[in-house]
Amino acid sequence: MAKYSNISTAVIHGGVSVDERTGAVSVPIYQTSTFRQDALGVNRGYEYSRTGNPTREAVEKLVAELEGGRSGFAFGSGMAAITAVLSLFRSGDRILISENVYGGTFRVLDKVFKNFGISYSIVDTTSREAFDAAFSDDVKAVLLESPANPLLTVTDIRMVSEVAHSHGALSIVDNTFMTPYLQKPLALGADIVIHSATKYLGGHSDLVAGLVVVNDPELAERIGFIQNATGGVLGPFDSFLLIRGIKTLAVRMDRHVENAEALVRYLNSHEAVSRVHYPGLETDPGFQVNARQAVNGGAMISFELKDGYDVPTFFSSLKLIFLAESLGGVESLACHPASMTHASIPRDVRLKVGITDGLIRLSPGIESKDDLIADLEQAIEAARR
Ligand SMILES: *Cc1c(COP(=O)(O)O)cnc(C)c1O
Repeated sequence: MAKYSNISTAVIHGGVSVDERTGAVSVPIYQTSTFRQDALGVNRGYEYSRTGNPTREAVEKLVAELEGGRSGFAFGSGMAAITAVLSLFRSGDRILISENVYGGTFRVLDKVFKNFGISYSIVDTTSREAFDAAFSDDVKAVLLESPANPLLTVTDIRMVSEVAHSHGALSIVDNTFMTPYLQKPLALGADIVIHSATKYLGGHSDLVAGLVVVNDPELAERIGFIQNATGGVLGPFDSFLLIRGIKTLAVRMDRHVENAEALVRYLNSHEAVSRVHYPGLETDPGFQVNARQAVNGGAMISFELKDGYDVPTFFSSLKLIFLAESLGGVESLACHPASMTHASIPRDVRLKVGITDGLIRLSPGIESKDDLIADLEQAIEAARR
């Protein structure tokens, strides 16, 4: 029987929460490349750390448990995790991707996998009819984010997974923005969940890591094979840091969301702001679908300043909120998608999907919301032309 019923307990006691040999309550860092074998063909479950390492295995078991999957796999970055998943496909296959996927996901498809004969199409995943019509015989999977980067566009994960399955294709969800604390794609019908654990799961902007979780044993075997064969594994020390980060996921996410909701209320009523994108806002186009599949609107926000405000001045005037790539850390970060996260997407493609030059993305940290609002207030004031 499970030792707990709630994910707030699972983040602490899930997976391998105690070292079997010593009783240590935090999993030791097995900083070793290889393991002494007892005799030819006889080992103690580990042979070589690319193939398996106890610290990495602990975080893999933990994330599998949190996502409600059977098997987890840890990689050296979110992109290494995505690359491993895309390595399931072969020349002639096509992957459908939702509009506004992470820039690096677009780039690896466009600049790497395309060279191997794996093609992609950018599709509208917000309507069943449009999505269904995008399928052709060569489509083997759909890869989506919900909410998607950076406009927080919501996709109905259950609907997309149903349509994908009706065409014999896999449903792959990048759950980085929500984390299993707020949304569990496998329970909604997805086959593969991906994380950039660099973000909320790690939570402290001190490591780069990626995760994959699946339920199907055959898929698990194939991903495990690819992980070992291509070798983009997460090291023992970073695995330890990730476990340590995940222990506070529940309390951090509660505070991230509380701060995000406060900033949304502030920005939404500000005369300098033309638009706020946040799926927790009742007026947001994704509100209803998001409310069905996630606990709340999450903690990521984006907004647009009106024409009378200078965007570069806004960014250079921020004092507490750092201008930086990434998201999901305890410190608040702001970024400019057009020139940063989505710079690898051609400008015309970018504008077509709504990533304007005035768009600002915020990842509220867990500081005092009053201090965050004060920082935004003075930066907006400084940016007034
Ligand atoms: C950051 C990010 C990635 C890439 O992860 P890395 O850890 O930076 O390699 C993939 N997907 C999303 C949604 C991200 O935010």
